[in-house]
Amino acid sequence: MKYFTASLIAMALTATTAQGADKFNYVVDRFADIEILRYQVPGFEDLSLNQKTLIYYLTEAALQGRDILWDQNGKYNLEIRRLMEGVYTNYKGDKNDPQYLALERYLKQIWMGNGIHHHYSQDKFIPGFTPAWLIQQLGYTPSNELLGIIFEPNIMPKRVNQAEGEDLILTSANNLYEGVTQQEVEDYYNALKDPNDATPISYGLNAKVVKKDGQVVEEVYKVGGLYSDAITRIVKNLHKAIPYAENDKQRQVIKELIRFYSTGDLKAFDDYSILWVEDLDSQVDFINGFIESYGDPLGMTGSWESIVNYKNQEASHRTEVISENAQWFEDRSPVDPRFRKPQVKGVSAKVINAAILAGDSYPATPIGINLPNANWIRAAHGSKSVTIENITQAYDEASHGNGFNEEFVIDQPTRDLMDKYLFITDNLHTDLHECLGHGSGQLLPGVDPDALKAHGSTLEETRADLFALYYLADPKLLELGLLDNPEAYKAEYYKYMLNGLMTQLMRIEPGKDIEEAHMRNRALIARWAYEKGQPNHVVEMVKKDGKTFIQINDYPALRQLFGDLLREIQRIKSEGDYEAGRDLVETYAVKVDPALHQEVLQRYAKLNIAPYKGFVNPVYTPVLDADGKIIDITIDYSEDYINQHLRYSRDYSPLTR
Ligand code: ZN
Repeated sequence: MKYFTASLIAMALTATTAQGADKFNYVVDRFADIEILRYQVPGFEDLSLNQKTLIYYLTEAALQGRDILWDQNGKYNLEIRRLMEGVYTNYKGDKNDPQYLALERYLKQIWMGNGIHHHYSQDKFIPGFTPAWLIQQLGYTPSNELLGIIFEPNIMPKRVNQAEGEDLILTSANNLYEGVTQQEVEDYYNALKDPNDATPISYGLNAKVVKKDGQVVEEVYKVGGLYSDAITRIVKNLHKAIPYAENDKQRQVIKELIRFYSTGDLKAFDDYSILWVEDLDSQVDFINGFIESYGDPLGMTGSWESIVNYKNQEASHRTEVISENAQWFEDRSPVDPRFRKPQVKGVSAKVINAAILAGDSYPATPIGINLPNANWIRAAHGSKSVTIENITQAYDEASHGNGFNEEFVIDQPTRDLMDKYLFITDNLHTDLHECLGHGSGQLLPGVDPDALKAHGSTLEETRADLFALYYLADPKLLELGLLDNPEAYKAEYYKYMLNGLMTQLMRIEPGKDIEEAHMRNRALIARWAYEKGQPNHVVEMVKKDGKTFIQINDYPALRQLFGDLLREIQRIKSEGDYEAGRDLVETYAVKVDPALHQEVLQRYAKLNIAPYKGFVNPVYTPVLDADGKIIDITIDYSEDYINQHLRYSRDYSPLTR
């Protein structure tokens, strides 16, 4: 599971973290609906040479996978990227020509989307330059098929389609399936699944499903299989990392990952995941592989990604305290006792600094991660949960004084509360969501973990968010020394309701539904609580000077409502009640009130804030002695967005198509 920042308001206007802000230039680029930031990697210089070298090879392994994600996201992505980069770098004409500027914007957009679709809305980018200009620049005419894919809005309009009732495979433009219907894919995997298998592999995680000679078959991502050239380079760098591992356990983790990449055996991936989740001593850590399945409308195939990171020792104290008390929270959660975990195992949590972001975590990146995703491994071996503090810090620093709170928060006392407590309560919300929320609860025996199907991701995020919201208001957090004011939680509650009811709509185009799982989850929670609280005026939408504001009249009652909904969502998950889950999602999480939507877009547009953020990575360079031995790794932050992507395409592009 990944946790994304709820909105820009998440980190807006906190007074506490301003020191050093003017020394580092966070904003790198701005285009379309995107702002690109850079992040600092504090403490990298203080790591040992072994650790730095380990990180270096792991970052190389991370960068070598970039093309895999591009190809997973769409069959023509690599071809289109190369074509556009070629035109861009060979261009000799006037650089103020609107056609050229439109090409630059289009390139920046597809770099951000890792393909021709928006990373968040999933909608295809339509270039602002003309086909005639492109043909003129190329000196030849590409196939009509390719021109259609680039320019025609109706061809491959959406990367991941989640619309209920449609064939989600045929209507999604991603490249995880080819020539097969949703029914054929479901039949294929249902035939493989053994309902009595207590330790099932993650079916379909590392494969493209295609039809060959009329048969539905998997093309497995592995050395010698699909994406072999990229995976081979990843493996080569993993091998180089092994001698620098911090301990034997970490060495085993890397070796098992190599075995998985070499064989494509999902049992090896489970073995790797177990070793990884049990490696709690290493300061340097990483994920590298086919991990999250948000890019697959059926939630099976993993999008390739990598994050290399190391533990931020001081900040980790917060999550360690939460983890140590996991059982206390589980035993008191408002869900039916049958659905609680009798023994919460190994919920390990830490605060990390990212050293590199790659694949599906780049340029858009999560602020928290909880892995592995396999339910039985989580139950038997626990899970690792991280909050990526140098990323949340970059969000925070970059959003200072952007005017958001003045426009959307109802009054000065609420703004003051948010100024004072939103940074800490937002971080705690992420910690609780990741360390406890996803790891809480249990399925009844015999319930298929995929029973909630297309709504599984949304309802799982809903469950984790509700767990976090419910406990954020618990006096236990004061007792544990994590908060110093019993009112502090109100800052996060206000932000959450404001975002879920109103401001997240800034990310939706007029007339469109809410699609993305985390956005659906936030809408579901906020609208459900709003509606159920109406008889008692718990939360109201009030008008001031013609503008809509969220007014929370009864915070304790709102907490109660979060608890009630958590109880119901956990029941749905534990019993695999697909119909109830679907009804909740369809009723509260999908449709948009057009008038309110219009108002939010207008008010937001005036602030001129980019609704989405992406990042550039620092550049790591080995320093060699006369014998070619690494004696240091330097870090440089100066690379800009365009040069980074052109360099990645030049130096880390093993796949041909
Ligand atoms: Zn989550």
